[in-house]
Amino acid sequence: RASSVDDPTSSGKGLDNLVIIGSGPAGYTAAIYAARANLKPVVFEGYQIGGVPGGQLMTTTEVENFPGFPDGITGPDLMDRMRRQAERWGAELFQEDVEAINVKSRPFTVQSSEREVKCHSVIFATGATAKRLGLPREDEFWSRGISACAICDGASPLFKGQVLAVVGGGDTATEEALYLTKYARHVHLLVRKDQLKASKAMQDRVYNNPNVTVHFNTETVDVVSNSKGQMSGILLRKFDTGEESVLEAKGLFYGIGHSPNSHLLEGQVELDSSGYVLVEEGTARTSVEGVFAAGDVQDHEWRQAVTAAGSGCVAALSVERYLVSND
Ligand code: FAD
Repeated sequence: RASSVDDPTSSGKGLDNLVIIGSGPAGYTAAIYAARANLKPVVFEGYQIGGVPGGQLMTTTEVENFPGFPDGITGPDLMDRMRRQAERWGAELFQEDVEAINVKSRPFTVQSSEREVKCHSVIFATGATAKRLGLPREDEFWSRGISACAICDGASPLFKGQVLAVVGGGDTATEEALYLTKYARHVHLLVRKDQLKASKAMQDRVYNNPNVTVHFNTETVDVVSNSKGQMSGILLRKFDTGEESVLEAKGLFYGIGHSPNSHLLEGQVELDSSGYVLVEEGTARTSVEGVFAAGDVQDHEWRQAVTAAGSGCVAALSVERYLVSND
């Protein structure tokens, strides 16, 4: 089965080897490997993020940490290159969102707005979405002062040497705050509650770091700008007193978590309590044989383009083995 499909034209008419759902680094890397293994993968790229394929990196400018690009590369350029590489090896790409999937009976079925595909295996690479606060000026300052990824953006010239703030009180926020102290002049941690939710170890690290100031009972209301239209501060409101103030800061990082895009698999494949797809440790295997997961949808910890791409590779090679062993 690995090298011959029942209907090699795929696209919904016959029975395909593999459907890949998602067009981020995980999905395209899986597509490249699967296409090179002659599996003729069908890829549903989705169009939810900004109406274009390519995933989260389509919403950023410079990517400075993807290996192979010593001078950096823009997110859209990187994703365009991955897409073209997948296409070149024969992956069949559809710019459609998957609306339903059934992996309870075999062959599996994957349903988009335009077609239904039956297949022997699925790689689920639908990514995750950083939770946003929904501030009034959030869209205006997204990637121009507001970010959801300290590792990605902390060292950028926009933020280096500046006073920055992180919103959130859990492990993600405390980790982001501590990470940013490497580059920032000072970091403020904005916490809604009257205590941190983070682990004791992380709390100790935050309290012992003179470059982090924690603000409890604090609501982040909006960002404020200077006369040049640049972000210059954050409007805060105290929950207990209602008092409002502006904190001078050049950047605001969201550390309030991510939502994995896994709702299509609910009730069919095991998910953890936050909705991340559970995979067997060190593999891409989910609780259903023939269904694999890669990238941020199964990774609540690292969430990087290169780790997503790496897990996409593992998923595609696992599919190849799975199909051969079931031939
Ligand atoms: P994603 O990139 O999230 O892609 C998921 C894909 O699945 C999307 O194409 C989406 O449209 C598709 N999809 C979802 N649902 C469906 C559906 N129902 N049907 C079909 N398709 C669907 N990482 C770095 O390493 N370096 C950086 O500099 C960096 N900068 C970042 C900047 C920003 C602003 C953001 C938000 C993230 C950044 N990251 C960076 C993190 C990186 O983008 C992610 O770790 C990576 O994109 C995850 O890849 P993925 O393939 O798992 O998922």
